[in-house]
Amino acid sequence: MSLHEIAQQLAGYDPEALHLDQAREFIARLLPAGPGGELETLPLQQLLGRVLAEDLVCPFDVPPQDNSAMDGYALRGSELAEGRETRLRMAGTSLAGSKAADAVPPGSCQRIMTGAAMPAGLDTVVPQEMVRVEDGHVHIAPGLIRPGANRRRAGEDLARGQVALAAGRLLRPPDVGLLASLGQVQARVFPRLKVALLSTGNELAAPGQLLQPGQIYDSNRYTLIALLQRLGCVEPIDLGLVPDRPEALRAAIRAGAEQAQVLISSGGVSVGEADHTKQVLAELGDMTFWKLAMRPGRPAAVGRLPRPDGSQALLFGLPGNPVAVMVTFYALVREALLRLAGAQVEPLPLLRATSLQALRKKPGRTEYQRGIVSRSADGGWQVRTTGEQGSGILSSMSRANGLILLAHEQGDVAAGELLDVLPFEALM
Ligand code: AMP
Ligand code: MG
Repeated sequence: MSLHEIAQQLAGYDPEALHLDQAREFIARLLPAGPGGELETLPLQQLLGRVLAEDLVCPFDVPPQDNSAMDGYALRGSELAEGRETRLRMAGTSLAGSKAADAVPPGSCQRIMTGAAMPAGLDTVVPQEMVRVEDGHVHIAPGLIRPGANRRRAGEDLARGQVALAAGRLLRPPDVGLLASLGQVQARVFPRLKVALLSTGNELAAPGQLLQPGQIYDSNRYTLIALLQRLGCVEPIDLGLVPDRPEALRAAIRAGAEQAQVLISSGGVSVGEADHTKQVLAELGDMTFWKLAMRPGRPAAVGRLPRPDGSQALLFGLPGNPVAVMVTFYALVREALLRLAGAQVEPLPLLRATSLQALRKKPGRTEYQRGIVSRSADGGWQVRTTGEQGSGILSSMSRANGLILLAHEQGDVAAGELLDVLPFEALM
């Protein structure tokens, strides 16, 4: 489907004041069906942040056998006396790591440690601190324990044949542990999505160079590389700082499409832009240029570039302002990259925080303000902004610990209202 056709499918599509939801919908329709490339097989230590390519089916019950949840005494629940003390002879000891002991004779119990297999026929464990032990016998007061208590059942965690982790899972630390607990030494994952980055702008100098009058350092490329590294399933390819000349831009963009499935540029897509980025993008690919109804981050470009192998590279032209880059990356790019890398994406958890101040907000655009979230006296969350919200103030992003989300229709906020905040720890 061409970009033009996608635009026609979206009711009320207006590239001059595009609702963020519609921009997201547009991008979702641009994405190819599934991740490409050869699967990789990686050892456990290299799986963090990668995307599982095949269902992990549980090869056995977890736990493999009934076992004790406590240090105590295993017994038959049916032998617990009602209304009077139960007295059982101590038959032996079951330690964790040994195979299940044989049945003990009626009227007996077995000393048992946490994790040890339940001896045959025994179904209940009374914790050691609840009993009195006297001349080889265990005395249990009435009503202390219910039959079946403190026993972990075979397969209660995971049953054999059950899908323990589904394909598309973005692997987190407990997932890696889960693979190990099922005896796996490796897993099949999708290849990392290759994402090329470039900065353009005649005012930019690379860090390490001496700043000439009028120049500023290129920070966006490094912010973006770091954002991509955080995703884990993406491999950033740095195309560098590209001089603002049509031939140089053409060469860099072509090289990017050759090496990567996605190309991200920053700067050069604003209205009235004096440089050549927009023009060269439009010439090389099927592009659309947006003015987004959002703040920060009004200008953006999205499109497709042909690759030498016949496939298409996705291109995101992000605004140049350092805060706008991060916010548009979060709002438009992050989820698309995860999907392209094969991941099943889930919504990021938000905090509900009380606003410590009144906020100005115009209905008709989505706003992301830099917030500092802290604990309030009543144990909830409270949030204040970092102050001046200019989209060039990179330090405000660094001082913030979350983004305050102000929805499209939202108007001014009064102090004390509840706001949605996206904590950075969930994101970066
Ligand atoms: P533009 O979108 O190209 O008009 O850029 C908007 C603002 O962002 C300008 O003040 C640029 O100097 C600044 N800017 C653009 N690219 C970068 C970059 N890579 N690093 C830091 N600032 C940038
Ligand atoms: Mg520029």
